[in-house]
Amino acid sequence: MADVVWIFNFKRARYTGDSNTTLIKDPCFSKNEKKMVHARIQSPSSILTYKQCPRKYFFQYIMKMPTGKNIHLVRGGIVHKVLELFFQMQGEDLAESFDVTIECLRKRINALFVEEWNARREDVSSLGMPEEQIQFYFEETSMMISQYIEHFIQRLQKAMIKKGISHNAAFDLLKPKTEQHLLSEEHGVQGFIDAIEHIDGKVALMDYKTSKKSYITEEYRLQLGIYALLYKEKTGENAHKVGIHYLTNGRILLDVDQNLVDHAKEEVKAVHNATKSKEIKDYPQNITPLCKWKTGQCDFYEYCFKQKQIAGYSSPASSSPPASSSPDSSLS
Ligand code: SF4
Repeated sequence: MADVVWIFNFKRARYTGDSNTTLIKDPCFSKNEKKMVHARIQSPSSILTYKQCPRKYFFQYIMKMPTGKNIHLVRGGIVHKVLELFFQMQGEDLAESFDVTIECLRKRINALFVEEWNARREDVSSLGMPEEQIQFYFEETSMMISQYIEHFIQRLQKAMIKKGISHNAAFDLLKPKTEQHLLSEEHGVQGFIDAIEHIDGKVALMDYKTSKKSYITEEYRLQLGIYALLYKEKTGENAHKVGIHYLTNGRILLDVDQNLVDHAKEEVKAVHNATKSKEIKDYPQNITPLCKWKTGQCDFYEYCFKQKQIAGYSSPASSSPPASSSPDSSLS
């Protein structure tokens, strides 16, 4: 099975998404004119899934089996949408008075949150949680949004003082580009960057998280490294910083250096190499507390430990199920 396809012109011949694409060898073009495209496009999520458990990657990305929703995913989607809509506003849309403006910013972001929550009400209800639990998550998320806007207002005030500019100009300065899709054909990886900030000629790539962490985990560092790699591929320029904005605990930034980008390249390449096969036996289970925890389980737990069969496959013998523990919802 061919796992890569050689193409001679990115603009005319592009990745087809078919992992069985035949190798194209065109004698009219020299080797240098040919570029390699990976048969499968990875993403930070697929790479982190493989690193968490190759068997999970197999179910999700090779077999393309559906995954369930959970409250962390649903509310992550709501929060991202709210911030995207919030930053569609321009500095010129703000009131003349700074005091009025900050009240309007608070009101506007909270109104957007309530609107988005109501729009996703069906998704939330489909999770089957008791009404009190839904109310808890509504209030907790509303609190995160409020913390976000207070933090943004502080940054706005600092920018006004430091640069001697109006709140309208400060808003335009701090306003990021949101939900940018970037793809690297060379490395076979893509991602959506939540926010790209351009401040004083410096670029920061930010990811929003609803997790209550206040440090950058190895997984997040890899995700940010992939964003730095994608940005460099797209623009030819290095971003200066990457970071996580924890809605509850604020921003943590990292410098973009060669180590960060090289590490991301190596990890992307390693996952491409490890995922050429379509055979379940090549994707071992990694049994950890993320298989099953007190309040839930991995989407594929029944296939791993309860003899549930996948059509067309005889699953390898099940291992012993793991002991229950608390989940790590760090990807939310
Ligand atoms: S249940 Fe555990 S071993 Fe099975 S796919 Fe999920 S994480 Fe991997």
